[in-house]
Amino acid sequence: MLSIRTRIVAASSIVFALVLAALAVGILRSFENASIAALDAQMQGCATALESELEEQKAEGGFPRLNELRHQIPAELSHAQFRLVDTAGTTLLADSLIALLPIEAWQSVQRNRHSVQFTTLVDRPFRSVWWYVDVEDGEHYALQIIAPLTQVASAVNRLRTLFIFALPMALLLLGVATSLIIKRSFRPISNIIDTANRINARDLTGRIPPGRSNDEIGALTRTLNAMIERLQSAFAAQKQFIADLSHEYGTPLTILRSELEFASARVKDAEAQESIRLGFSEIDRLKRMTDDLLLLTRLDSSEQLIARKPVRLDELLAESCRRMASLAAERSIALNLHIEEVCEINGDEDRLQRAVSNLIDNAIKYSPAGSTVGIQLGSDDTKVSITITDPGKGIPAEELPFIFDRFRRGALTRTAEPGSGLGLAIVQRIAELHGGRVRVESVAGKGSTFRIEFPNLKASG
Ligand code: ADP
Repeated sequence: MLSIRTRIVAASSIVFALVLAALAVGILRSFENASIAALDAQMQGCATALESELEEQKAEGGFPRLNELRHQIPAELSHAQFRLVDTAGTTLLADSLIALLPIEAWQSVQRNRHSVQFTTLVDRPFRSVWWYVDVEDGEHYALQIIAPLTQVASAVNRLRTLFIFALPMALLLLGVATSLIIKRSFRPISNIIDTANRINARDLTGRIPPGRSNDEIGALTRTLNAMIERLQSAFAAQKQFIADLSHEYGTPLTILRSELEFASARVKDAEAQESIRLGFSEIDRLKRMTDDLLLLTRLDSSEQLIARKPVRLDELLAESCRRMASLAAERSIALNLHIEEVCEINGDEDRLQRAVSNLIDNAIKYSPAGSTVGIQLGSDDTKVSITITDPGKGIPAEELPFIFDRFRRGALTRTAEPGSGLGLAIVQRIAELHGGRVRVESVAGKGSTFRIEFPNLKASG
């Protein structure tokens, strides 16, 4: 698909080319006609001069004298030829070439008086004038003058050649000028596209540069900026609400838990104990969810990391494994840590710990008892990668593109395991805050591989 710019340049160039071509043909035609009219005028002037000379010669006797007639021919008509014919059609005098042309019938000369026409002589185009000469009463002659059209033709050819070179140049200039003007006019649209690409729910601070235009693009820019402004306020209010809510929930949940603990210590009834146990797990789930929400809101509003210190990832992974060991053991799952090399990145150790724990926690949660979860650290020239592999339930292909969305829980796991659907969103945000990203490969029923990649410090020096 051609860009709008290319299409406008192509369309305007085609229209301009057609207009220029029509104009050039028109100019060439009028120039040719004007040149022929000028030649006609010269020939007619020459005929008048010859007629006067003939009258003089007649009056003086010794008529007609060719040499004296020749003096009447102006320099511009130096290639012209002429002849004098009497009413009977007898040639009285004639230049060499003109004698080859047929003689016009006397009646026609007499009727037309002064006629101009095209003629061809030895394959060359000529302009011919037949002139009715009235020397004395009763004595008439026909005078013919011919002049070659070669000068007119070569002048027209020169003009045509000029057009052939000038028109493509004009087209090229027009194309370049149109392209530059459109590029300039479309710059605000490129700004709009760039800004729209940069803007997302987490970062609505971007604005489209207003530019100077007061036209439709200026109006569009102002409208979009006002819309982003409204979105930013709405998102800020929503974030604040979530943060407040998560915070407000914390204290009542803690109180509820201690009340349940108090009750649990006193109640002996098995059924009541079971209810209390259920209560504990729901409170814990709610607490985890509110904590996750609060963390995510904080991570969203921090464009930069809270801490940025060198972090040894090999040590961090060993610590994560130690922390997750009891949960893994509970589920009879082995954790297999493989450090290919010692790697260090700049970042926030607590957040990184959280991201890795979330992935290991999922791997344990969604894998069958007796299986092994692999945790691996490695690097190449450009990146450092932490890879967590499990042989668990896997994720169906259609869910994969959305798996990092907030509150998204997989169909295969939703009912099997408790969760909030916020764990992976937290991992993704933490990876982003470290200049990295998280990727997943998974096959339903076979297992999953999550990989967090960070820029390699060693490579960037
Ligand atoms: P939660 O685990 O609380 O549901 P997450 O954001 O951590 O939320 O994960 C979102 C969804 O991604 C999960 O509900 C699950 O369907 C899927 N998922 C995540 N990790 C794995 C995994 N290792 N194996 C299979 N499915 C996974």
